[in-house]
Amino acid sequence: VIDIKNLSKSFGSHEVLKDINFSVEKGEVVTVIGSSGSGKSTLLRCLNLLETPDGGEVNYEGQNVLTHMEDVNEYRTKLGMVFQQFNLFNNCNVLQNCTLGQIKVLKRSKQQAEEIAKEYLDIVGMGRYINARPAQLSGGQKQRVAIARALSMKPTALLFDEPTSALDPEMVGEVLKVMKKLAEAGSTMIIVTHEMEFAREVSDRIVFMDQGVIVEDGTPDEVFNHPKHERTKAFLQRTF
Ligand code: ATP
Ligand code: MG
Repeated sequence: VIDIKNLSKSFGSHEVLKDINFSVEKGEVVTVIGSSGSGKSTLLRCLNLLETPDGGEVNYEGQNVLTHMEDVNEYRTKLGMVFQQFNLFNNCNVLQNCTLGQIKVLKRSKQQAEEIAKEYLDIVGMGRYINARPAQLSGGQKQRVAIARALSMKPTALLFDEPTSALDPEMVGEVLKVMKKLAEAGSTMIIVTHEMEFAREVSDRIVFMDQGVIVEDGTPDEVFNHPKHERTKAFLQRTF
């Protein structure tokens, strides 16, 4: 689905991504781990062009979107993004949060958009809250709405950037449970998380980043139990 080649990105003189090669197949769940500042969020943001890479290729279904891009908003709907801070529209209710993008960007009818939104709100266990405002919801509930909103666009892949890092500990489980359900249903997912047990359980591959470089890319068993590089070992020792 996505194939990145020799991607680089700098902010000023700071090279944040260096010669990144990374690909995700349909139905794969890939978790990106690494310390703060290693470039994980920037990598996700380059995938859906929230950041513009300086060099390299971002191939989506065989086309380099950096050189062949007709409609960036339409492209972004194919890679549904879930953020640490939810980014819900606070002046809209739950249902509207999940229909706005469908109506505006995908030109679906209001009725069709509402049907689709309700289907996904049910899947994340938020079907009873369609009229609630984000302010009335707990963090875990907000994040489940954000996941339903992303799913409502029927994206090719879902990108999660530390989806549970802003949650109180007792709410982390309900969000991870929804993500696990999606993974088991065959969704293509790229997840940045510090939840290592979860990553081990749901991921087909683990990618370890350090200082803008992909140091290790392998199965959970390979990366967690048999890391090849010293930097991976040091990171895992600090984390576990
Ligand atoms: P964290 O685990 O803390 O979220 P991360 O791995 O997601 O870290 P990034 O957010 O990708 O790291 O940041 C990588 C580096 O790029 C950091 O040094 C950060 O300060 C820098 N950076 C990120 N965004 C910008 C920006 N818009 N302008 C300048 N520097 C930036
Ligand atoms: Mg980040």
